[in-house]
Parts: sequence; C-alpha cells; structure tokens
Amino acid sequence: MIPLTPPVEIPPTAGLPAEWRDLLAFSGDLAQRLSDWLRIPRPALTCSGTAALIIALRELQRRHPDRTRIIVPAYTCPLVALAAFYCPPLSVVPCDLAAGGIDMDTRRLAVLCDRQTLAVVVTHLAGRVADVDSALRIAAAAGAAVIEDAAQAMGGRDGGNSVGLKGDIGFFSMALGKGLTTAEGGVLFSRDPALHQALIQSCRRELPLSVGWELRRVAELWGYRLFYRPRGLYWVYGKALRAALARGDAVAAVGDDFTVQSIPLHRLGRYRQRVGAGAVLRLPDFLQQGKQRALARVALLRQLPGVGVINDNPGGQGVWPFILVLMPNAASRDAAMNCLWTAGLGVTRLFIHALGGYPAVLPLLAPADATPCADDFAARSLSITNSPWLTDRLFAEVLLRLRAALV
Ligand SMILES: *Cc1c(COP(=O)(O)O)cnc(C)c1O
Repeated sequence: MIPLTPPVEIPPTAGLPAEWRDLLAFSGDLAQRLSDWLRIPRPALTCSGTAALIIALRELQRRHPDRTRIIVPAYTCPLVALAAFYCPPLSVVPCDLAAGGIDMDTRRLAVLCDRQTLAVVVTHLAGRVADVDSALRIAAAAGAAVIEDAAQAMGGRDGGNSVGLKGDIGFFSMALGKGLTTAEGGVLFSRDPALHQALIQSCRRELPLSVGWELRRVAELWGYRLFYRPRGLYWVYGKALRAALARGDAVAAVGDDFTVQSIPLHRLGRYRQRVGAGAVLRLPDFLQQGKQRALARVALLRQLPGVGVINDNPGGQGVWPFILVLMPNAASRDAAMNCLWTAGLGVTRLFIHALGGYPAVLPLLAPADATPCADDFAARSLSITNSPWLTDRLFAEVLLRLRAALV
C-alpha cells in the first residue's frame, strides 16, 4: 500500500505553521510574550540557540576564568560542542548516557565533573524533560554551573515551572522546525536576577545587527510560510534528503553537517521578533493538541515488542515535536529506516553519531573515554514526527512498517 501520493513530505518535527498575518505584523513584543506565557524573566533574544549558549558560556568564563571544560551529553546536537570554538580555551567533555535513555550517566558525570568544569549542560532532548536535579547536585559539589539546553523543549514544564529555570541558565531555539520559529533564533534567560542582567548586557554588547544575515533569515521565514506544508516540503527538503541518502551521506540527510562556520553571531532583528510574537500566541494550543496526539501514539508504540519510547523524567511535562523511539537493535532500526526514511511520513533519525563521530567536533573534545551507551543510542534510535499532517491513518502505516522491521 502506498499511503501518500508523491511528491509529498511530512515534516520531521511538529513546527508551528506560519500565517500571513504573522508576517505582516506591525507590533508585538516577543520577549514579553514569552515571559508572560512561560513565567520566565524577560529573556534576551539571540540569532540562534547556539549563540545563546555561547553568550552563556562567555559570561560564566568571565566569572570563572580558571575553568576550561564543559560537560555535555555524548549524544546531542553537534552545534552544542561547536559553541566551544567561540569560547577559547574551552574544551568539551562528552559524558556517556545512562543505558536506554537521554540522561547522562550520573556515575560518569560525578567522575568527570571537577574543579576544571565550567558548566554541565543538561539537554531536554526531543522535548523530553531530562534529569536536572542530579546534575545540579553533582555540579554544586564541584562549584560548576548547570545550563539547561531546552532548544527542543519550549513550553515544557519541570515541577510546574518552565524548563530552563532549575539550572543556572536556560535557553530555547527558534530554528526552523523547532516549534516556534523565527528562521533561526534563540531565547536566553536565568532564574538568578544578577546573572540574567549580565546575560542581557552581554547580548547587547557582543551581538551586532547584521543586515546581511537578517535579510537572509527574513527570506527563509517567508519561504517557511510558502513551503512548510507536505507538498512544498517535498521540493525544499524531501529532494535533498533523498539525494543525500542516495550518496550514502546520512549526516547530510539529517542536516548534521555543521562546522564552526555555520554559527553566525548577531542579534535577532525587530521584524522577525514581531513575526514570532504573532505566532507565539497560537503555540500553547498547538502544543496541547500535539501532546494529546503524541501520548495516544506512544501508547501504541509501546505495544511493539522490544521497542522503547523515550519519556519524561518524573515531575516533567515535556512537549512533543516528535517521538523518539529506541528499536531493539541496530538491525531492526536500519530495516525500519530502509522502508521509512524516504516514505515522506516524517520518520527520520535525530543525530547520526555520538559527538566523537563528527570530524568538525573532534578538535574541541577533551581527551575522553569511550561512550558506548551514546553510540548504542545513535545506532538504535529513530524519530517519528508529531506533525498534525501525520494523520492517524498515516501513523498506522508507520506502525505497520515498524512491526515488519522487527522480525
Ligand atoms: C537545535 C539545537 C541546538 C542549537 O540551536 P540552534 O538554534 O539551531 O542554534 C542546541 N541543542 C539542541 C539539543 C538542539 O536540538
């Protein structure tokens, strides 16, 4: 059965579609609306989540110039490690994951975290609420800070508060495909008033306006309005995906092929802030519907023998841009991808490798030990979009193909 009539491509994540009235907005204060909705301090807005992380790291470096390492989960977005390039002499220590999940192995973390550690980065991967408490405890013992990478988790709650408020610093991403988008953008804040003010000042000082980048991003945002639908995405995303897979380049297929040159540093322009301010008003409802859809589907996925679904830590209420699935072994994951990756159904892989697998990241890594659980996670995981365009009928087709891949 061919469930979709090509050429169509359902997006790999549940991005909030833009509307014309967002693009034609003359007013609207994005920082204030985010602050009101999420009950976070009025945040600094940057050109990307990575830029927010760089500003955060630089601020911490000013306070602790003797600390030269950050610890990050060994399976995370390569941009997180590449951020260290802009904060010399910082190097990155990948911490292995606990088996079968996205959290860092707390025993490894306790060994790695020491007086050289500037910060521990905890990542709410896939919108799932990660374990911040353990990191806080371990970091406090070494005098290190905790940064919450909530790039994929805007709207997620941890113990009733927004993610990003437990750690010393939190940030969200507004890149294409991450829920709310300004075609790249970042949101930076701290629960600590003095640190928060320092972050706001750093952004003012260190992030210039870049007319060139701004024009490019505005064009991308209009492109998002025009093409972010199954028929449009086939042309702007599906074709490149298929071409990359045909050459056997999985890293390019998922857009993981970042280098330090992929990270401009500038501010988020006023116009794009207004566009985001219009869109953010629709986000709470969109996330709520997404959550209902995802929870029903998670229950169905859990019935597949040996298949795991990543969930929130206790007390967490995450968001669902996509569902992160762990197949029983690498062979079944690869079999599933063989029949799903180019099916247009929004099934893809998150990051192809653990951090050590990216040549651009290697020069920034501190000498580190093996990360077998992160490697295993990369080998067994796949993601299923939570886009509303993946209807129940199409999701049933995904389930069928996953089940077939298990034998
Ligand atoms: C996307 C992402 C980032 C970086 O955000 P950008 O806005 O793309 O720079 C950081 N961490 C994680 C987990 C991400 O998914």
